[in-house]
Amino acid sequence: MPAVRNIVKDFRVEEAKAERKCHANSSHKILAGEKHFAYDDPGRINICKECADGVLKVAADHLEKVRVELSK
Ligand SMILES: [Zn+2]
Repeated sequence: MPAVRNIVKDFRVEEAKAERKCHANSSHKILAGEKHFAYDDPGRINICKECADGVLKVAADHLEKVRVELSK
């Protein structure tokens, strides 16, 4: 069986090399050395740990909605 393509493989955890701005909330900073969620859109998007939970939850809910709609 061929491998199923992972369409979210650019979703990843990175460790900031320098201080970065959180793209989900401009008042949040990601400090150098801090782990954060990152993906490409197509430029790199950095999301702090605090916001990542909500962003990933919205994405998961959306995927579930699409999956359910398709199976009807
Ligand atoms: Zn944030």
